Amino acid sequence: MSLSPSAEAVDVAANLAEVSARIAAAAEAAGRSAAEIELVAVGKGHDAARVEAALAAGHRVFGENRVQEVAGKFPALRESHPDLSLHLIGPLQTNKARQALEIFDVIETLDRPKLARALAKEMAALDRQPRCFVQVNSGEEPQKAGVAPNETDAFVALCRDELGLTVEGLMCIPPIDEEPALHFALLREIAKRNGLTKLSMGMSADYETAIRFGATHVRVGTAIFGTRPPRP
Ligand SMILES: *Cc1c(COP(=O)(O)O)cnc(C)c1O
Repeated sequence: MSLSPSAEAVDVAANLAEVSARIAAAAEAAGRSAAEIELVAVGKGHDAARVEAALAAGHRVFGENRVQEVAGKFPALRESHPDLSLHLIGPLQTNKARQALEIFDVIETLDRPKLARALAKEMAALDRQPRCFVQVNSGEEPQKAGVAPNETDAFVALCRDELGLTVEGLMCIPPIDEEPALHFALLREIAKRNGLTKLSMGMSADYETAIRFGATHVRVGTAIFGTRPPRP
């Protein structure tokens, strides 16, 4: 898959520094250590040059939402930076489970039993055990992926206890027209009662709020890489 070139001039290093400073300030205001918060830089839709700029600035943790795009973009970047870490933050089709396991270090979008079973099977075959987050559809939006809040406990139990997946935490994408804090608080509560310590929540517009509610992973795209070019 080819990507439109990222034409807009953007200083990725300066943006990374600013977002990191804001994360540190938000953590401090919440009485937390900035070291507990991982910045996942979301380069989806941007060409490899943008990601290279972040790598050159010392950043190593990235998020992408399409297996196909990553298969084209990341092999060369991994070669030059074997220590980079890649999170899948978009929906995963069951028939791409194996490919996703080969490419990603963390799967943040574990969202249905069929996918959990496919991943468990492929993990055994490949002898790879990526870390997973269960995606919760906190706003119960029909068009959005994720497990319903009241089904999350049972789904976590299936993934973790029955299938042996490494479930580290929960992830959510709040509805765009609602106060995100309510969703962040809900995610924190569901994680707590399931003994999960990691929370992936917060994007460019609301990562500081998410940190106030306990985010351990914030997924930030636009504030680092600029506006995404239109999909070809
Ligand atoms: C695109 C995307 C992000 C980053 O969004 P920005 O608003 O550009 O920071 C974060 N999480 C998910 C799941 C995404 O798809």
